[in-house]
Amino acid sequence: MNPETRSELSPAVRIIPRDQHSISRKNISKAALRVLYRLHDAGFAAYLVGGAVRDLLLGGHPKDFDVATNATPDEVKGLFRNCRLIGRRFRLAHVVFGPEIIEVATFRGTGEDNGEGDRHIVEGRIVRDNIWGTIEEDAVRRDFRVNALYYDIADFSVRDYVGGMQDLEDRTMRLIGDPETRYREDPVRMLRAARLAAKLGFTIDPETAAPFATLGHLLGEAAPARLFDESLKLFLAGHGLKSFKMLEACGLLRFLFPATARALERGDHALRALVEQGLANTDARIAEGKSVTPAFLYAVLLWGEVRDQAHGWIAQGYDANEAWQRAAVHVVGEQCQRVAIPRRFTFTMEEIWALQPRFEQIHRKRVFRLMSHPRFRAAFDFLLLRAHESVRMRELGEWWAHAQQLPPEMLAAALGGGGVPPHEAAPAAGGAPARKRRRRRKPAGRGKGDSGGA
Ligand code: ATP
Ligand code: MG
Repeated sequence: MNPETRSELSPAVRIIPRDQHSISRKNISKAALRVLYRLHDAGFAAYLVGGAVRDLLLGGHPKDFDVATNATPDEVKGLFRNCRLIGRRFRLAHVVFGPEIIEVATFRGTGEDNGEGDRHIVEGRIVRDNIWGTIEEDAVRRDFRVNALYYDIADFSVRDYVGGMQDLEDRTMRLIGDPETRYREDPVRMLRAARLAAKLGFTIDPETAAPFATLGHLLGEAAPARLFDESLKLFLAGHGLKSFKMLEACGLLRFLFPATARALERGDHALRALVEQGLANTDARIAEGKSVTPAFLYAVLLWGEVRDQAHGWIAQGYDANEAWQRAAVHVVGEQCQRVAIPRRFTFTMEEIWALQPRFEQIHRKRVFRLMSHPRFRAAFDFLLLRAHESVRMRELGEWWAHAQQLPPEMLAAALGGGGVPPHEAAPAAGGAPARKRRRRRKPAGRGKGDSGGA
């Protein structure tokens, strides 16, 4: 059946039987299967839906499983003891199995998304038919065709109402319905297009991508807290570098991280290298199952702007410490109007930045003090990313890397009593390369944060 020949709004279903698709129950979480079977046994329709079906068909391992059903939230609650209802207007059921949560949503109707348009209240009661709908209505409310496939627990078939199977084959992200209308309803769908295309290695259908240029600014109206969540999914889910490149290619980066886009548009190659390396390192850490902190990555993304502003303040005669603080407050403040980065992260970001000038103070007491700073490790990793900025930055990184490997007595001995420029301190053989002496620097460690970073 050709999906193009039928209307998306009154979709005809294409049913792909169990032996003609690749989804195996082995790859579905036990918790999700239990939810599906219990709903089915109670006489309800029960489907796995959304990203999980998409990822299973692509051979991936979904990180979460969503279920769609014709049971109402109260009926779902009646079936599971480990169930809580969330949301006010559109209630969802969360069935909890230890750390795993299966989200169970009742089929949604086609009412308007915004406002209370589909909320018909009769004698104080919500007439639920205006909220709940049929599976067909539920399908066309979803964002992309590849996200609107349903795996039916009744016969293990996949139900495709909008041509999602075709798009999976074509490896294309394509919106359901008219792109402009769908982005106006919810501008975050633009970010989702870019993110999912990056994650899946898909292209974005030209009609789906066309409104980015004219409607991208609507992202300015999206809730900053939601954009923070979305930014985590973009950059801290294992495909951050790809997401970043995709956002740039789509012209959407500037609506999410205006300062980053601005700094990169100035053609700063070292900054680009820093950002891309930072993202690549984060992806690698995630692939190895190591922990990552959003603070580090946001510090990376905003570094160019903070550094340039700090230098600007210094040039205007501000004390270095104050200049860095002002720059940090300003840049973080601007960023948080778009993306609500929680205070605990912005605090760490500011620390990482503030510690950068201190790496240039190779002075006995200061070296040890810096090394025992709780944020030393993150700040040092950040310093390493700055190797592209200058030879001096690379040398500093090497010096500090080596210094950390020395027993404290040896490091103390190498540092002597006073301040030594990094290339002369040479903590031990094999330390920072002893470069030809340039101008002799004043012993560092006098003023507060005297060099001002890069
Ligand atoms: P992933 O979990 O891999 O990031 P996903 O597609 O599962 O991708 P979720 O945010 O978990 O994304 O959403 C689950 C499903 O809900 C989607 O597959 C889609 O069908 C629907 N959905 C999510 N966000 C929207 C939206 N903004 N508009 C319409 N439908 C949406
Ligand atoms: Mg999901």
